[in-house]
Amino acid sequence: MSLSDKLSQQVSQVPRSGIRDFFELVQGRDDVISLGVGEPDFATPWHIREAVIYSLGQGKTSYTSNLGLPSLREAIGEHVRNEFGVGYDAESEIIVTVGVSEALDLAFRALLNPGDEVVYHEPCYVSYSPSIVMAYGKAVPVATRAKNRFALMAADVEAALTDRTKVLVLNFPTNPTGGVMSETELAKVAKLCIERDLIVVSDEIYSELRYAPERAHPTIIQQPGMRERTVFLHGFSKAFAMTGFRLGYACAPAELTEAMMKIHQYSMLCAPISSQVAAIEALENGAASVEKMRLAYERRRSMVLHRLETMGIPCYAPGGTFYVFPDIRGTGLTSREFAVKLLEEENVAVVPGDAFGPSGEGFVRCCFGANPDDLKVAMERMSAFVDRTC
Ligand code: PMP
Repeated sequence: MSLSDKLSQQVSQVPRSGIRDFFELVQGRDDVISLGVGEPDFATPWHIREAVIYSLGQGKTSYTSNLGLPSLREAIGEHVRNEFGVGYDAESEIIVTVGVSEALDLAFRALLNPGDEVVYHEPCYVSYSPSIVMAYGKAVPVATRAKNRFALMAADVEAALTDRTKVLVLNFPTNPTGGVMSETELAKVAKLCIERDLIVVSDEIYSELRYAPERAHPTIIQQPGMRERTVFLHGFSKAFAMTGFRLGYACAPAELTEAMMKIHQYSMLCAPISSQVAAIEALENGAASVEKMRLAYERRRSMVLHRLETMGIPCYAPGGTFYVFPDIRGTGLTSREFAVKLLEEENVAVVPGDAFGPSGEGFVRCCFGANPDDLKVAMERMSAFVDRTC
């Protein structure tokens, strides 16, 4: 019997993540400094961990309502209203999910019929295209460029639209580029979405991690007419350093939330209660911890940008996230050659830009969420590598 004949075609056609493949090379090597994984080096702030420990002591170990604890949904509603200026009803328009990862999957599965097209900007988070394909959609990438600060140009979106386009995915600030959108360009994209009757899935996971002079953060839901056609996704992994808690949420008009809830109810049931308790504490008392970590990333970002400049490697100063996406074309190497040689010769792991889609070729992603001492040594090693190579 051949098991490959038995597998779902939808799953078989999806490639493994390029990040995973690359990190198999990293495994088994000693003394590697990894700037590869998109994760803060901070542990979750202590007051959040303590709230969970206390709740476990109290015996809070049950299921919750499918949509999530009512008090968490209230806290999310308040947070989104205060930070993004848009209100959602805690009873019918907010669903708590297992990370933004699950929220993305729910949004695509709730919206797509076979063959519906989803436009997204690229280079992008590695999950978008596979999640769209596994929901029977067609993934349609639109390239963004360093000269436009990796913002999405409305004209490029327009050129990619067809009669089958149903959804546009936005992720600003962007993983892996750190790109941000200006209010003017965002307004053009919003106008186009209304004209062409598109739904927007807006992945806001890096929203809190923005740096001067890009501190203002225009988002698509604030644009006139967009709240009713936007699924707003956010979570706790990045800003609160809570990757292991696996907690996120989606806010959307009630009909869409109900559709996502049906999938979530039958596949996940609910997000873990301990993580929901952690999220309440994060939203109620975590702002100072987030700001402390953001300032630390801002210092690391300046150091990394300065070092890259000294190496003669061009790099857009990211408006947000904890990634830089330097342009390594001047070295004469492809993204993959650069990453493999840097690993083999200097024991520093970065992610080849093509792991984020073909338009990431010529770039690599370095995460400055890493430990600052490691980051300094990694930059010294990269500098020695570039000197030797160029
Ligand atoms: N969206 C983006 C843009 C991401 O970078 C990530 C994680 N790297 C996710 C979603 C998934 O995050 P979570 O941990 O909330 O599932």
